[in-house]
Amino acid sequence: MMLKMAKRMLFEADKRLLWKLAWNMGVKGGMSVLRHKSRLKRGEVFPPFLYVSIINSCNLRCQGCWVDVAHKQKTIDPPAFRKLIREAKQMGNSFFGIVGGEPFMHPQLLDMLAEFPECYFQIFTNGHFITDERAKRIRELGNVTPLISVEGTEIISDERRGRTGVLSKTMQGLQHCLNNGVFTGVCTSLCRTNIDDLLREVWVDRLIEMGVLYTWFHVYRPMGPNPNADLCLSPEQAMKARKFVVEMRAKKPIVIIDAYYDGEGQALCPAATGISHHINPWGDIEPCPIVQFSKESIHTTAEDGRTLKEKFLKSDYLRDFRAVAAEATRGCIVLERPDLLKALVEKHGAKDVTARQTALAELAAMQVRTSQYSPGNEVPEKNLLYRIAKRVFFNDFGVYNGKDHSQTAAPGVLAGK
Ligand code: SF4
Repeated sequence: MMLKMAKRMLFEADKRLLWKLAWNMGVKGGMSVLRHKSRLKRGEVFPPFLYVSIINSCNLRCQGCWVDVAHKQKTIDPPAFRKLIREAKQMGNSFFGIVGGEPFMHPQLLDMLAEFPECYFQIFTNGHFITDERAKRIRELGNVTPLISVEGTEIISDERRGRTGVLSKTMQGLQHCLNNGVFTGVCTSLCRTNIDDLLREVWVDRLIEMGVLYTWFHVYRPMGPNPNADLCLSPEQAMKARKFVVEMRAKKPIVIIDAYYDGEGQALCPAATGISHHINPWGDIEPCPIVQFSKESIHTTAEDGRTLKEKFLKSDYLRDFRAVAAEATRGCIVLERPDLLKALVEKHGAKDVTARQTALAELAAMQVRTSQYSPGNEVPEKNLLYRIAKRVFFNDFGVYNGKDHSQTAAPGVLAGK
């Protein structure tokens, strides 16, 4: 299988793009994680993988979206983006996730990324704005990979995403990328209405046939002003998804990403481990995209002239978030212990950084739910390469430190509800 994967990379991907990926993302990204590990030993956290929402606007209206897509447009402008990337680079970062809203609605998106050929950017997109011309530009840049979201069949996609003709436009954007030899991924937010169509070997095979080189199965999280609990996976479905990913990694020549398990199959939270935090379109620094409360901003003001490094390293709020999250669960504190998160936000006087200004009330109204943590049901990686890579580059980095969370896990997790 690994041989087949290597063949696909060598024969299907453009060599210059492959080199950029291997160097900027593989080698430099790996080094940034090693730096993160040594900073952790000094009690310092500066996330090696920053996710930056550069715009709040979107052309779609997905069920349960927590971004204020219909509010007045706010973008991270080129000078602020430049300053952010430069400061992060000084900390050894080279990989950035670009999120939205729909990032391609930002008029300067590709020009901003072109300024940093030594970095690597993954754009989370619905693909609708990727024309043939844009795909050509992406290929020319070489430091960008689009991760295009496919959320189900025609009917399900329209229902999930609140517009018509969504899937065909997404597939057009995807095809433009593939026609131009762009290193392209496809992701899916698994939920009850798409799991039976997309968590299938035939879908993975179809992606491979099309020339897609990597995929990512997220799990729908009921957040925001209109959370749709009916879409949540049951614990059994979540377990099925984990097993499927592990199986497919062992047998299909396509890279499969996940962000919630180490190589032994133990759950983790990337915000609690400090490997990743999020910046919203207003420049507010958040623990992760669904924790929309902040104390720090990337922007320099008369009151706060600190560097990005100082803001991350000296943030009591972020430090406390990581500690409380790691103490509470190996899963997601937002889903399992919204009460603790609310108390933390109130203790620090963290600002609601949504445009709608209802995030605290939403948190107060949240029901306890299961997350990726399912003690006793760990599914270790079968593919040795993933297992080794995760041991070195993606694990809990000791933040859970032998804590026994099995007694504090969300009741549904233990009961398997
Ligand atoms: S808090 Fe929850 S949603 Fe946020 S990174 Fe952690 S596990 Fe993921």
